[in-house]
Amino acid sequence: MLQICINPTINKGERDPRKKFQCPSCQKGYLSKTALNRHIRYDCGKEPMFSCPHCSYRAYQKVHVATHMSKTHVNEYYGDTEKFKK
Ligand SMILES: [Zn+2]
Ligand SMILES: [Zn+2]
Repeated sequence: MLQICINPTINKGERDPRKKFQCPSCQKGYLSKTALNRHIRYDCGKEPMFSCPHCSYRAYQKVHVATHMSKTHVNEYYGDTEKFKK
């Protein structure tokens, strides 16, 4: 089963007052020092490590690839290729 999680906390603003731990390199804000350290260690400046098997889409989180596939490759998933064929 494919789990689709859309992150409701995505915000467009650069600064969230709750996110007081900021990455010195990319200015991303985090709620906790642990999250910031995790970002610096695994995310910051790194290439996305998860890739879509159907196209060249890449993401930092597996769930983002799953979301992408459920949106972009929905026909591959449900095997209903006739309706959606381009
Ligand atoms: Zn960073
Ligand atoms: Zn894709």
